[in-house]
Amino acid sequence: MKKIFLKICSLFFIFLGPLFLQAQTVLIKVGHIIQPESGDVLADKSVLVENGIIKEIMNTKSVDELKYDRIIDLGNVYLMPGMMDAHVHLTYNGPVGNFNPKATYADEPTSLRALRGLKNANDLLKAGFTTVKEIGNDAEYATASIIKSINQGWFEGPTILYAGKIISQYGGQIGGMSPEREPLWEHEYIIAETPDEIRKAIHENMYYGANTIKLVADANPYFYTEDQIRAAVDEAARFDMHVAAHVDGGEAARNVINGGAAAVEHGFSLDNELLQLMVEKGTYLSGTDFTQPHLEAMGMPGKWAGKLADRIVSRLRNAHELGVNIVFSTDVVVDLPGMNRAESNLEFLNAWKAAEIPNEYIIKALTINNAKLFGMEDQLGKIESGYKADLIALPGNPLDDIDILKKVSFVMKGGIVMVNERT
Ligand SMILES: [Zn+2]
Repeated sequence: MKKIFLKICSLFFIFLGPLFLQAQTVLIKVGHIIQPESGDVLADKSVLVENGIIKEIMNTKSVDELKYDRIIDLGNVYLMPGMMDAHVHLTYNGPVGNFNPKATYADEPTSLRALRGLKNANDLLKAGFTTVKEIGNDAEYATASIIKSINQGWFEGPTILYAGKIISQYGGQIGGMSPEREPLWEHEYIIAETPDEIRKAIHENMYYGANTIKLVADANPYFYTEDQIRAAVDEAARFDMHVAAHVDGGEAARNVINGGAAAVEHGFSLDNELLQLMVEKGTYLSGTDFTQPHLEAMGMPGKWAGKLADRIVSRLRNAHELGVNIVFSTDVVVDLPGMNRAESNLEFLNAWKAAEIPNEYIIKALTINNAKLFGMEDQLGKIESGYKADLIALPGNPLDDIDILKKVSFVMKGGIVMVNERT
């Protein structure tokens, strides 16, 4: 009986096995393909995707459609790599006009933060963000569970790079706590001051799922020294991770840049000398370029918000003119009224437009520049053979009108269709 059973099994595999083992091929027909690195637009091409990876770019006219398992004809759209955002807080959303981290940390359990994060992750994916970097402030590692649930296939969301808890000097970014309430920050930050403490904090984050590192360099007057930054950078590098550091400007920013951090987060007060130093060191600017409405939504009075937004725009313009590598990054912690997280994030394009950054560069910042910062430029940010099939389609050319990025009509992540408005 056992022998017969084994025979049936082997016959099954001989005849039907190849069907299961065979690669799944999907041919995507589009009007145009945008290559962010070169700025080239290719016409009348089809993209062949096999098992989630781009296999070939073909001339649509010479394609034999019968050879492929599935044909997706998107018509006269513009196809480009999925968008990426280097600075998101998926699990955070304060009330409009009243950004109050202490209240959030005290009132919202990790479970609620995780559920909000899942919704935001899903909204971001549907809008065309296929990779994001969660930069921290997610209570007790809420994002680790979000990532697991997406990987399990329970929910749909982007690929998430994850920083775990933000590593900071004493007090984190929560000023003015009473001594009785101090532990509140321990749910959002790891306090680490000596090189040994910094290395331990990195290990703790890694244990809970982090694959990138975020420091807050200057939340307090006792900002990190160059040696402290370098301790983090060297330890992170042992595990192929990069360090991003929140810093505004001045000496603290100089320490971050000279200490070898891969990215400056925010950097609203970076002067041209520091921007030039970033060019020399190859430091990325993850500028989280807030517009006035975003700052007002957080509760900043209009006059201040206008001034800061102007400063951010001129810093962005200077950085671009000097040749700093810039990535698209947002940092929304309060959604704009009536908008979800993805819509709020895409409003950051207004700052890039105000800084007169060419559309071609904005598309690079959204794709290949972020892929390079993430150390994933051999997998993400291009439509080329061997790259992950993270693709989005647009009804018009974003090189002519950057706001067309708000009208993504097709999203594929890892070869799986997440959005297709034509079906
Ligand atoms: Zn942030």
